[in-house]
Amino acid sequence: MSTQATKPRRQWRRKPEIVIVGGGPAGWVAAVAAARNGARVLLVEQYGFLGGLATMGLVGPFMRYATKEEQLIQGIFQEFCERLKRVAGFKHASFDPEKYKRVAQEMALEAGVELLLHAYLTKVRVKDRKIKHITVMTKGGRLNLSAPLFIDTTGDGDLATLAGAPYEVGRPSDGLTQAMTLMFVVGGVDCQRVEDYLLSHPEEYIHWPDADTIAYGETDMLCRAGFFSAVRKAQEEGRLDRAVQQLFFISLPLDGTVVFNTTNVLELSPLDAYDLTRAEIIARKQVWQIMDVLKELPGFEQAYLVATAPHIGVRESRRILGEYVFTGDDVIQGNRFPDVIARGNYGIDIHDPKGESSTVEYPPEPLLYDIPYRILVPKEIENLLVAGRCASSTHEGQSAIRIQPICMAMGEAAGTAAALCLKLHTTPRSLDVPQLQKRLRTQGANLGSPPHE
Ligand SMILES: Cc1cc2nc3c(=O)[nH]c(=O)nc-3n(C[C@H](O)[C@H](O)[C@H](O)COP(=O)(O)OP(=O)(O)OC[C@H]3O[C@@H](n4cnc5c(N)ncnc54)[C@H](O)[C@@H]3O)c2cc1C
Repeated sequence: MSTQATKPRRQWRRKPEIVIVGGGPAGWVAAVAAARNGARVLLVEQYGFLGGLATMGLVGPFMRYATKEEQLIQGIFQEFCERLKRVAGFKHASFDPEKYKRVAQEMALEAGVELLLHAYLTKVRVKDRKIKHITVMTKGGRLNLSAPLFIDTTGDGDLATLAGAPYEVGRPSDGLTQAMTLMFVVGGVDCQRVEDYLLSHPEEYIHWPDADTIAYGETDMLCRAGFFSAVRKAQEEGRLDRAVQQLFFISLPLDGTVVFNTTNVLELSPLDAYDLTRAEIIARKQVWQIMDVLKELPGFEQAYLVATAPHIGVRESRRILGEYVFTGDDVIQGNRFPDVIARGNYGIDIHDPKGESSTVEYPPEPLLYDIPYRILVPKEIENLLVAGRCASSTHEGQSAIRIQPICMAMGEAAGTAAALCLKLHTTPRSLDVPQLQKRLRTQGANLGSPPHE
């Protein structure tokens, strides 16, 4: 038997023009958009499937992407929802993570995107403010990947950071980032009994005042946060970690199955491997404590654990500084921008890093805000775009635009912009934004009417 190390093989069908790192909501949509606009795209992902936090984090549903009057996020996001529906993987903004993996992969391959899975970005070589190549670690060894343009959709801004782009982490007062949460799926739930119990105990759950303006509010999807007295009792008896604030669960489009957004890990850094290790350990203990509490609650008597997410959910880490920094004021004042590439109305949603207070502050109806192209254009590096939860924003601004539909819209804009840059022989910083907006509208994006008309 040979003991010689095998050299990693290069099997690119065609040399890529755009390399995208991170196959989450922003990344796979960016790849589809760029490929549909004629670019040769290579999408690099550390896991064996697409979806990022939607699949490796079991995070859902799609948060607020519509007002009472109109659906704000459309384009590829809308097409994806329709295709998920066709395979029974979508109901009232809630989706089946396995169907998500399937449809995202189908859409990427149909668009002609080349996938490189199980590849982890480790190094970036920059010369004269341009990325020359990136290095990824694979089972077969290191691979260097070069292209004229790159997109960072790693969620953590790994590519931009390794390239030397400036960034910020956490809130200004102490640098702490939002709490982390390990999501888990529970089966054997009698959703009707759970709902009947909560409706007859209104003091036991949070009444979201704007339930009818979030896309899933008025439906048969079960989305509740509460069971306060059971949580308090279990904590007094020492059976439940005090960081857990309530039981928050959302039904999946699968019979008797809900996903829990309930574990709560405080004051640890998502950018430090030792902290992340502690976070996974703490959260996994909480999962089993919560399962123990659930057995005593109406509708959950037969509940069993189906799966925990492969990766703890990271709400916030690095925010790469771009040509504009999106703020909490932009959300609350419903600011409009001439370089709008998407629009949102999700509020400032900060899961307090110390667990002290967690509130959602929405822009007052009918306010909604524009997301400007400039937050996708990082400072210092000329052939790079950034999209998703690591886009240029403050702690407060990021807490609103980090939700999946908005990340997907940012991805569509970044992918389309990159492909346009190739066609027009220009850089992301110099791109003619009206041309980008025209293209996005043709693809079905709802950018509203121009702000200054
Ligand atoms: C607990 C929790 C609950 C949430 N609840 C909701 C909700 O209910 N609704 C909603 O809409 N949003 C919710 N969000 C927010 C939303 O899920 C994320 O902000 C969104 O998924 C971010 O998308 P992204 O593509 O920017 O990054 P991610 O989803 O983080 O995807 C990044 C991708 O990059 C890959 N990657 C990272 N680093 C590397 C590397 N070095 N090399 C190779 N690959 C790499 C990752 O594996 C991943 O696939 C929640 C988030 C969390 C954590």
